[in-house]
Amino acid sequence: MIKFLYDPEKCDLPYDSNVQRPSKCLKCLESCPYSLLMFRPMKEVAKDGAPVRYEIYMTFKSYANKYCPDCLKCIKVCPNKAIEIKI
Ligand code: SF4
Ligand code: SF4
Repeated sequence: MIKFLYDPEKCDLPYDSNVQRPSKCLKCLESCPYSLLMFRPMKEVAKDGAPVRYEIYMTFKSYANKYCPDCLKCIKVCPNKAIEIKI
């Protein structure tokens, strides 16, 4: 089972309701040759009920079928060392 370890504090992608996608980085998504990584609003919310930031996650399909060959591209490209993958 692949373990995708991710630190949202290091990644720090502020939520932007105007554009519905992170306005910075996403280098990990762009680097993955199998498009296994996605972003979504985090469940953590501000007092007004709006999400505070996005998080990066690995798709369920990748966990189930072990598509990730641990190429390390997403880890190497991350400027904040926010990702770790354990197989
Ligand atoms: S290790 Fe490689 S294949 Fe796996 S999620 Fe990262 S970039 Fe994609
Ligand atoms: S490359 Fe790193 S800092 Fe950039 S979005 Fe991905 S996890 Fe966050």
